[in-house]
This record gives sequence, structure tokens and C-alpha cells, in this order.
Amino acid sequence: MNKQLLVVISGPSGTGKGTVCEKLLEDETIFLSVSATSREQRVGETAGVTYHYHSAEQFEKLISSGKMLEWAKYNGNYYGTPKDKVLEMMEAGRDVLLEIDVQGALQVKKAFSDAVLIFILPPSAAELRRRLTERGRENAEQIEERIGAAYKEICVAEEYDYVIVNDNLDECVTSVLEVMRAEKRRVCRNTDKLDALKQELEKE
Ligand code: 5GP
Repeated sequence: MNKQLLVVISGPSGTGKGTVCEKLLEDETIFLSVSATSREQRVGETAGVTYHYHSAEQFEKLISSGKMLEWAKYNGNYYGTPKDKVLEMMEAGRDVLLEIDVQGALQVKKAFSDAVLIFILPPSAAELRRRLTERGRENAEQIEERIGAAYKEICVAEEYDYVIVNDNLDECVTSVLEVMRAEKRRVCRNTDKLDALKQELEKE
């Protein structure tokens, strides 16, 4: 089992998971994977930082050549996690964070059974609606779509390992870090320590 963690963060649009991930990066041992997408670059986004942008055709080639650790279609666009960078960072001793949707999360769990899946929840439906309205990115119809999508996503959350409510940003970030610390102490991630001490004791 890997010592480094592969942590998946998902949650309904408007939950604030992006901000949670940004805050987590203040811990320099954590690496946030930059996803690939076939959707248009939005104002304020930076290629190679927010996403790696590809045409749908290029994306399909990346899938068929096995370059994606997971991928999903969301709102008609492809999204996926480039595999090589994740493996490189884990080999370099970093914990890797994936901010991805529920379809991708389940694929990651299949491929990496020790991945840690965390679902971020808004405090309430009314608060989710308020956050979506306040950020002003979607029109009324799109907000209703996001609310409908949130219901479906929460149904999948039962497959996750942890649920954390994002009521207060700092508390939510602390909870994610606590989960990560506890996961690092699982017996299955520390069998080398047990074996080393057993060997020492055998020599006593
Ligand atoms: P947006 O277009 O708003 O940036 O992202 C839309 C959705 O795609 C979000 O729910 C986000 O978590 C998800 N997403 C972003 N990157 C990936 C990825 O690499 N894989 C998957 N499966 N979903 C992603």
C-alpha cells in the first residue's frame, strides 16, 4: 500500500470545494493535480494552471492511448486526470489531491483501492442556492440544473469514505487535514514500521 495519499475531493457545484483545495495547497507536501478538459477556457482561467485545455478530438486520443487516470463527460465536455503527473508526484513523496466529479471518483477507487474519497457538502440546500446565486456565474435556469445535479451527486456520496460539511472554510480545511493525518496512521500504510521493530526485537 502507498504511503502517499491519493485524495479525491468532490461535492456539488457551489459547495466551495475549489477554495478548500486552494487552501490545502498551503501545505507544501500536497500536490493538486491539474485536470485536462475539452471545455472552453473561461475569463480569469490560466492554461496549465486551471486546466490543460484540449479539443474533444485531442482528448479522445489521450483516453485511447491510456494517458488518463480517470475521465468523465460533464455538461457535454470531457474532463480527466493526466496519469503520469499523479504517479510522478506520488513517487516523489507528495500527497496528491484530485478535485473531480463523482463519476471520476468511482473510477479512481476502482483503480486505486487505497484512494481516500472525501465528499464536501454545503450546510443546507438553501445555502447552496444562495452561494450559486451570489457567485453570479449561472443564470436562473442553470442554477436549477446545478441543484438537480447536486441531488444526483449526493446519492453517489454513499460510496465515499468521508463527508465534510463546508460551513466554515477554515474548519472544513482542518477536517480534511485531520482525515489525511488519520489515513497516514492506518496499520496497512505502516507495516514497514511494524516489520522493522519486529526485526529489532528478534535481535534483542
Ligand atoms: P468546471 O467546468 O466548473 O470547472 O468543472 C465542472 C466539473 O468537472 C466539476 O464538478 C469538477 O469537479 C469536475 N472536474 C474537474 N476536473 C475533473 C477531472 O479531471 N475529472 C473529472 N472526472 N471531473 C473533473
